[in-house]
Amino acid sequence: MPVRQPACRKCGKEVPGQHHEYCLDCIRHKRTFDSGAALFHYNDAARHSLAAVKYKNRREYLDFYGTAIQYRFEKAIRYWKPDMLIPVPIHPSRRRQRGYNQAEELAIRLGKAWNIPVCTRLLFRARKTTPQRDLNPTERLKNLQEAFRVHPEFLSDARNPEVSGGKLPDCVVLIDDIYTTGSTIEACSRVLKAAGIKEIHYLSICIGDGK
Ligand SMILES: [Zn+2]
Repeated sequence: MPVRQPACRKCGKEVPGQHHEYCLDCIRHKRTFDSGAALFHYNDAARHSLAAVKYKNRREYLDFYGTAIQYRFEKAIRYWKPDMLIPVPIHPSRRRQRGYNQAEELAIRLGKAWNIPVCTRLLFRARKTTPQRDLNPTERLKNLQEAFRVHPEFLSDARNPEVSGGKLPDCVVLIDDIYTTGSTIEACSRVLKAAGIKEIHYLSICIGDGK
């Protein structure tokens, strides 16, 4: 089911009425990213479809999702004017095991469609996280925050813009397949903002209903 208006001004999740500016999750938890949106509710059908993308190599589903995101959020992209798209990274060992990162596959499709560079080097996953399923949002965030890092090359560039020519982007859009509690996007955003990136948005295929 597509996500409809009215939606949370922060995470893009559907809210019960126009008088709700933000969803309960975004009221309760600090949001370092500026805004974002998703296409569909994360229901059983979506869960099935995205699990096939992730674990059964059904990457062709991403052609459909990519095209849908391209048209649905074209206006937002024109408004944000991001310098680059950044797929949420997975740990290299997981990537080797699976052979691909589904977020990266999606970002590549979107980058091509919108003619925006996709950067997989700036943000990386430095350590594996324990499965997030049984953790509450605060624990998830703590679990994740230490996992993401900005590549030192970009950090030194930010500190020496006259040497690097200012390679660190001003505005980026994080790309992921699922936004559940927002802790992954939040953890990435904290790391990126700490590195000096000013504006961060996100786009994903699905969004959980949250609370
Ligand atoms: Zn929200």
